[in-house]
This record gives sequence, structure tokens and C-alpha cells, in this order.
Amino acid sequence: MSKTEKIRGVRGMNDVLPADEAHWRRLEDVVAACMRGYGYQRIRTPIVEQTRLFVRGIGEVTDIVEKEMYSFTDSLNGEALTLRPECTAGVVRAAIEHNLTYDGPRRLWYTGPMFRHERPQKGRYRQFHQVGAEALGFGGPDADAEVILLCQRLWDDLGLPGVQLEINSLGQSQERHAHREALIAYLEANADQLDEDARRRLHSNPLRILDTKNPAMQALVEAAPKLIAFLGEESLAHFDRLQALLRAQNLPYRINPRLVRGLDYYNLTVFEWVVDGLTICGGGRYDPLVEMLGGRPTPACGFALGVERVIELMRRAEPQGAEASCDVYVVHQGAQAELAAFQAAERLRDTGLDVVMHCGGGSFKAQFRRADASGAFVAVVLGDDEIAAGEATLKWLRADDGQAADARQFRVPLGRLTEAIVERVRDEG
Ligand code: ATP
Ligand code: MG
Repeated sequence: MSKTEKIRGVRGMNDVLPADEAHWRRLEDVVAACMRGYGYQRIRTPIVEQTRLFVRGIGEVTDIVEKEMYSFTDSLNGEALTLRPECTAGVVRAAIEHNLTYDGPRRLWYTGPMFRHERPQKGRYRQFHQVGAEALGFGGPDADAEVILLCQRLWDDLGLPGVQLEINSLGQSQERHAHREALIAYLEANADQLDEDARRRLHSNPLRILDTKNPAMQALVEAAPKLIAFLGEESLAHFDRLQALLRAQNLPYRINPRLVRGLDYYNLTVFEWVVDGLTICGGGRYDPLVEMLGGRPTPACGFALGVERVIELMRRAEPQGAEASCDVYVVHQGAQAELAAFQAAERLRDTGLDVVMHCGGGSFKAQFRRADASGAFVAVVLGDDEIAAGEATLKWLRADDGQAADARQFRVPLGRLTEAIVERVRDEG
């Protein structure tokens, strides 16, 4: 490899460029406000965890653990480590480690990058981002309803129409066990129609076969025994109450009996939010998880949404996004003027204005082109003339601000520069 060959980013791991920043920022702002609005507190856990955490916490017979994890051995101490493929396991580990549910239940949320070694395609990357919430210590359907309502508010506040809710109940393990027997018997009777993946999972994780994306198996799984028929009274009551709470909020949903979710630790409620057949968010209840990871038995539920998939919808709804721009652009020429320009820019920043100082010299004409492109509403101009007079020229850049020509460009004493700009900003509200 020659020294000057371009080095590319890793396949499936994307740069988020400034052109998309407006969407990302808006998503982050809406999420933070929404989480606050429901009493969720932010938690930040490490990107790297012990591999064992995910093997135990996600389940050995899942796509993630079977084939998607970035695992490596720490070369210094031989520890088996993994880049987190999701954040629930980490949040639960942290909650146990720091005793976060000691005084009662906790509502937590997180956002950050996750890593899965998948075949990259649109909406599916190797580094992607999730936003998620975990309600720890809540056993009732009220908490399920709450996280679902929180999601609906996110879509509303982000201006995303047409995000549809699908729900299902996975019951408890004895119920799933009875269903599992029936399911295995049914699938064995139709073994000739199973693909390789399904045959492998037939005895290890047959429920996941229902989640298959293989078109050739759709008819088969459609007609398979349904878990809901195996639910006992308590599980049904939980599911019914959740539905009553959703109906009371006029939140439409569809029961999808084939919804089982990719992770093994779910029980009772599971849900997904879907747009045009694409899932942007999934969640549900995972009461066994805390105990499986060594904590005291603690019921819990939560969700995780795929940030890139949501951003893609935001881009569709509003292609531009708001352009990021500054308030003031400082144009200058000459050594004396440069000193005055730095001075002026700092004083303007003191007032909270966003100021871009022209760097790198060039003609006034070239500098004004930059000033126009910056989105600033005013250019501060400092040249030999201005410095000799102890003044600065203000040039108002927005053609649509309705000002007469002599109000569009005028001089002010250097000592009054900040004031003159701040006053005009205030007058124009
Ligand atoms: P899928 O069935 O599409 O593989 P999943 O069940 O693996 O999804 P979850 O683990 O529930 O997905 O993750 C929650 C959300 O995170 C998904 O709904 C999706 O929006 C997003 N997501 C998951 N994997 C990826 C990925 N590789 N790239 C981008 N977003 C992803
Ligand atoms: Mg997946």
C-alpha cells in the first residue's frame, strides 16, 4: 500500500456529516425533552462490556449472539470483550452493580452507538445508534402502556405520521413451553417446508422460526399454533389491561400474533412500531432479565429505536432540515484590522451571538461571498478606512429584512459595535 492511498471508513460504519446534523440535533432534543417529560433519567454505560454479559443477557440462540457480535480478546489481560450490540444488558448490569433500584423502581434512558456485524444495506449498518428507555421495577401493564405512549409522543413531536403500533403477548415461560410443544409438533409434521435456519432452530428456539423473513415459509408460519391460545388468566388479564389503557388514550394498535422479537428475554408484552413494513422501534417486557444477570428479581420493560431509521423518515418528511448557520460574519483586511476583528468577535460572542471570523485573508469580495454563504444576518467589516476612523461597517445581509438602503449598511464607532448589533436583534425580535 502506498503511503498516499486513501484510507476509507469501515464498511457499514457511517460518518454523520454536517448536512444531516440538523435532523440529528432535533431528534436528540426531542428525545431528551420527551424522556424528561415522563420522568426518565439518562444513564451512560460503556461501549465495551464483557462478552458473557451479552451471551447471558441476550441469549445464546439469537442472531445477535450467534453471528453479529464484535468480540475480541483484550490483549493485555485476556478478557473476552464485546462492542455492545444493544444497551439493555448494559443498563441492567449497571443498575445491579450500583443498586439503582434499591429505593424502588427507576426509569432510565440512554442513547449511543451499537455494533452488529450484519450485511450492510439501507437501514441496516454495523455501527448504528439507538435511543432506548428501561423502566426497572414495574410489573404492571401501566408501565407497558407508559413506554408505548412515550414512543407515540416521540413520533408526534418529530412530525412522523403513519408509524403503526403492533403488539403481542408472549405470556410466561410455562405458557410458552406448552405452546412450544404444540409448535414443534406442527413444524415437525411439516418438516419438508422448513429452511435450514428453521431446521436448526426447531428444537433450540422454535418461537424464533415464527419471526422468519423467508417468503417461502410465510404460509407455514401463518397457520402455526398461536401462543395467545396458550395464555393463562393472569397473562391475558395483563394483555387486556394494556389494551384498555391504549384504547383509553385513543392509541390505535394491531395485535400481531407472530410478533416475537429478536431477543430471548422477553415475556408478556412485546411491541414494535412499523412504517411501510420497516420496524423502527421494538420493545416489551423482560421480567426475567435482572435476575438472569445476577440481580434481585425485578420486573422491567422498555424499548429501543433505531436512530438512523428514524432520521431517514425525518429526512423524507422534511428533506432540508434547518440549515445550521451563524449570526455574524467578521470580514477584515490588514494587520491592525485583524486585531480589532478578533476583539470584536470575542465581545459579540460574550453576548451569546454565534460569530464566524473570516480566517485566511483574501479580497473583500471573496470574504463577502463567504459571509453570504454563512447564513449570518450581519457582516462586520473592518479595513484600513474603518480602523483610521475608529469605526466598523455593519452590512445587513438578509435581503428580506425590509430595511431602507441606508439602514442596510452603515458605520458605528468600534466602542458601540456590540450594542448596535444587539439592539437591532432585539428590535427585530
Ligand atoms: P431486525 O429484525 O430488523 O434485525 P432487531 O430485532 O435485530 O431488528 P432490535 O434489536 O430490536 O432489532 O433493535 C431495535 C431497533 O434498532 C430496530 O427496530 C431498528 O430500528 C434498529 N436496528 C437494529 N439493528 C440495526 C442495524 N443493524 N442497523 C440500523 N438499525 C438497526
Ligand atoms: Mg437484527
